[in-house]
Amino acid sequence: MATKKLVVLGSVNADHILQVESFPRPGETVSGHGYRVVPGGKGANQAVAAGRLGADVSLIACVGDDDFGKRMINAFVKDGVQTGAVTTIPNTPTGIAIIYVDANGENSIGISAEANAHLLPELVEPHLSLLNSAHTLLMQLETPLITVEIMAKAAHLANKVVILNPAPARPLPDSLLANVTIITPNETETEILTGITVKTEEDAHKAANVFHAKGVDKVVITLGAGGAFVSDESGTRIITGFTVSPTDTTAAGDVFNGALATALLENKTMNDAVLFAHAAAAISVTRLGAQPSIPTRKEVEDFFV
Ligand code: ATP
Repeated sequence: MATKKLVVLGSVNADHILQVESFPRPGETVSGHGYRVVPGGKGANQAVAAGRLGADVSLIACVGDDDFGKRMINAFVKDGVQTGAVTTIPNTPTGIAIIYVDANGENSIGISAEANAHLLPELVEPHLSLLNSAHTLLMQLETPLITVEIMAKAAHLANKVVILNPAPARPLPDSLLANVTIITPNETETEILTGITVKTEEDAHKAANVFHAKGVDKVVITLGAGGAFVSDESGTRIITGFTVSPTDTTAAGDVFNGALATALLENKTMNDAVLFAHAAAAISVTRLGAQPSIPTRKEVEDFFV
């Protein structure tokens, strides 16, 4: 089990999920089934993945003062996520996502930040001391960018490992990338950040070099069912994932990131850490929902047997 500490900074969302045969087109109404509201948000998903997989993890985040926010804090504790830096914002709802899942397990998502928009530098400052005892900081882009930039700089200056999952996709300043140790974009995010469409291993190699030129040490481009492309001090390679029948790929990337961070904190090699993350993410895509789909440590270990 991990002894080095992980800090995750990011979003908490209530995911409203509806299963549909195919996504509604503009002006179209489609009938769905299986409506449910489940815990989600990239920050929360990644922290819960790390917690369920055995990491010593703290979450820096904001929830609303609604029932969902209260339930989330209790759920984090059950999943082993420390919540001392989760702030409840008065008179504000918890962040929400409206998610359609189609018959192929693909998703289409609209989000509203709500309480997540309050994760600003002045709110995070009292929790900066968490970084002192941490080894790794893991962040995404569903919360204000200015806070991500400040946290990356503080962590980099303190010689911490900074993992950035640049999702949802948006252009980023070079000054932020210079403070990132490991970047974990999917193919879409890679294209938006580097201008390179990833169709081949050669394309992934070129995109990775764009990140390296901006100061990122290690690049892990996730390729969905195709696994992941890795570029680090050992060279470049594709690490193949596991073949499963997908039910819902929501949060596959989040499970991958939480698991990758957990495995690296346990001193696994990059190759072994990516394989561990592939296994956790593969299990999650066979199940519906974000946090309900995240496997436990035992489930991942059994998956390898
Ligand atoms: P999402 O936005 O759906 O959360 P993502 O686009 O951020 O995911 P992907 O590259 O699609 O990230 O997937 C991340 C990881 O999840 C992959 O590297 C792989 O380990 C796993 N994964 C995703 N889809 C599948 C699949 N169909 N079968 C097996 N593993 C999968």
